[in-house]
Amino acid sequence: MIIASNFKTNYTRGSAKAFIQAIQAFIANTKSEQQVRIFAPFTALDRFDEVATLKVGAQNFYPVQNGSFTGEIGFEQLEEFGIQTVLIGHSERRHILKESQNLSAQKYDFAKARESEIIYCIGEPAEIRVQGIDAVMSYLWEQFEGIDISYDKLIIAYEPVWAIGTGLTASLEDIEEVLTRLRDKLCAPLLYGGSVKVENIETILHVNACDGVLVGTASWNENAFCEMIRIA
Ligand code: 13P
Repeated sequence: MIIASNFKTNYTRGSAKAFIQAIQAFIANTKSEQQVRIFAPFTALDRFDEVATLKVGAQNFYPVQNGSFTGEIGFEQLEEFGIQTVLIGHSERRHILKESQNLSAQKYDFAKARESEIIYCIGEPAEIRVQGIDAVMSYLWEQFEGIDISYDKLIIAYEPVWAIGTGLTASLEDIEEVLTRLRDKLCAPLLYGGSVKVENIETILHVNACDGVLVGTASWNENAFCEMIRIA
């Protein structure tokens, strides 16, 4: 199972480091074998002690090694900290930052060329969801335009936009229907994200074709995140 936490725009350098160290200690003490990912803010990236099953990743980057892109972070800056996993296509970047599919695909190609693990996020907004599963799937497939789905370090996170940070989790039937349809065409591990919490993680992880979760809000508490790893 892959249990990932997306810190989004939360935590300082100090508090993120303390969180990550606490999770490392939990993994060591419990000998957990779950694959844990923590997507910290750029300012908290650092070289963390090696824990084989825990990788600290970047929530974003600009698809260049370095250059003149004011305010952006290139791969050189990530490589300084040994970052080996990145998020691409998160709905907050697509919808709030207005990132195009084309830019997501450029980032994807760039990270793939550097052999980074990629958690590639897809998800439909509420107005598509109400149109039914066929509309949802065609919307999701459009988010694969320009994406090489055969990449062996690809992980997909299905995060319905209307379920992110709203407390509205997709029903188990809806999650299963989407993940099994994705599974028909994709070999990559499939994660679900959207209001996952301690109370619902177990049933979500039992959904057919679900290989893990990407958690926001409910993971921003050390004890809760440890509990989710333990349940997995
Ligand atoms: P929430 O868990 O807060 O719904 O956020 C999910 C998410 O966006 C993870 O990337």
